[in-house]
Amino acid sequence: MAAIQTLGELRASGYRSRPVKTEIRDNLVRKIQSGDALFPGIIGYDDTVIPQLVNAVLSRHNFILLGLRGQAKSRILRGLVDLLDPEIPVVPGCEIHDDPLAPLCASCRARVAREGEALPIAWLPRDARFVEKLATPDVTIADMVGDIDPIKAAEAGLNLSDELTMHYGLLPRANRGIFAVNELPDLAGKIQVGLFNILQEGDVQIKGYPIRLKLDVMLVFTANPEDYTARGKIITPLKDRIGSEIRTHYPTTRVHALAITQQEAWTDRAGGLKTIVPGYVREVVEEVAFQARADRKIDKRSGVSQRLPITTLELVVSNAERRALANGEKLVVPRVTDVYAALPSITGKFELEYEGELRGAEQVARDLIRSAVGSVFTGMFDGVDTKTVVEWFDLGGSLPLADSTAADDVIAQTRAVQGLRELAERADAAPGSAAPTVAAAIDFVLEGLYAQKKISRSDDRGYAAAETPRRPTRRDEPTLDEEIRIPTGKKKYYN
Ligand SMILES: [Zn+2]
Repeated sequence: MAAIQTLGELRASGYRSRPVKTEIRDNLVRKIQSGDALFPGIIGYDDTVIPQLVNAVLSRHNFILLGLRGQAKSRILRGLVDLLDPEIPVVPGCEIHDDPLAPLCASCRARVAREGEALPIAWLPRDARFVEKLATPDVTIADMVGDIDPIKAAEAGLNLSDELTMHYGLLPRANRGIFAVNELPDLAGKIQVGLFNILQEGDVQIKGYPIRLKLDVMLVFTANPEDYTARGKIITPLKDRIGSEIRTHYPTTRVHALAITQQEAWTDRAGGLKTIVPGYVREVVEEVAFQARADRKIDKRSGVSQRLPITTLELVVSNAERRALANGEKLVVPRVTDVYAALPSITGKFELEYEGELRGAEQVARDLIRSAVGSVFTGMFDGVDTKTVVEWFDLGGSLPLADSTAADDVIAQTRAVQGLRELAERADAAPGSAAPTVAAAIDFVLEGLYAQKKISRSDDRGYAAAETPRRPTRRDEPTLDEEIRIPTGKKKYYN
């Protein structure tokens, strides 16, 4: 196509422009027929969101994705770009990407009249046909649709009412492409009316100009479901004009969640030390998000983004990397205790309910981690005898370990604990494994027993015997014991 460089050549080639929704539909039909992946990189939506999305596109609908944060809404919208043609012909330099075969703006129409078949053609790649805007209350009609540009008028010596003095907003600039508005309910009512006009008439009128632009745009939106359904947040006629409402969701299984995090988290660090992330560490990180989504101390309406496990895993790997570098180790193996070092990527990812605020974000996050470790450990060590290890502590043993302790030191210090090494071997550290792998497995067993409250852990003493339960008095704060519910023997997190 790029060989075609003039309007005359374009006409001679028999090229036919299609409305953007037809173009997207045609390309989707072809993808389905050839069995291509429809939305590559979108995991866990194959039976829920994607069929509805496909139906909306086949119906040439404008649509809205309703979901909480971190449910890949923006990613899905950006994925629509792959359904556009690789490139389309445009009038070079036109701000609204006019079709050389049917230009809208005055300047392009004048050029076609003047230059005729010799008019040069440019080819616009599909990436340039996606315009995205985060809705905020201060977005104006001028931002969205356009305005008079008095400077342009003055410079060109034009009358202000001349169409050539228009400054185009985002929407006209998305002409012949996709216009995505994130968080639609945050848009002022007046702007929503503007959007409604596009959906209704398929054109926009720019303030003060007698012309109407017959734009060709696919409009897609995202919103938090509760904001969207709240009375008065979205003007009814606009809602009425959105063809499909599609609900997104968080991963329903830990397998999907693991796959998403594996895809997104930066753990394979080129140029750095070799890194092996144990499966149980990945599971604990994922389980933190699952627990957070179910925790009554955390606000359900704002949700817990999948970005929580993604950034957490990145910090977990970094903490392990830092330890390996400081201790001169050649292999980076993250431990469960490294998850506690990832608090900075957890505390900011949820909103607390009143009860959570009383406890504090950091303590809520610590509780979640401990509970997540308990869940993963119980799943893996269900029915396994841990008595000899617990007895060693009950007889007065203690282990002052920290997340900075070198792998060889962890192994040396725990050698005397009968049965510990055998338990570690069950956790991904077969005999003959490298020291950092063994140390990580030992750490997992100790953290697991701590999560099950069979041993205790404190900043000054390290791991020790479980404290004998005190008789609770009325003045006591709620203790951790009450807050943590470790599901025992439940397999529901393993899919
Ligand atoms: Zn134009």
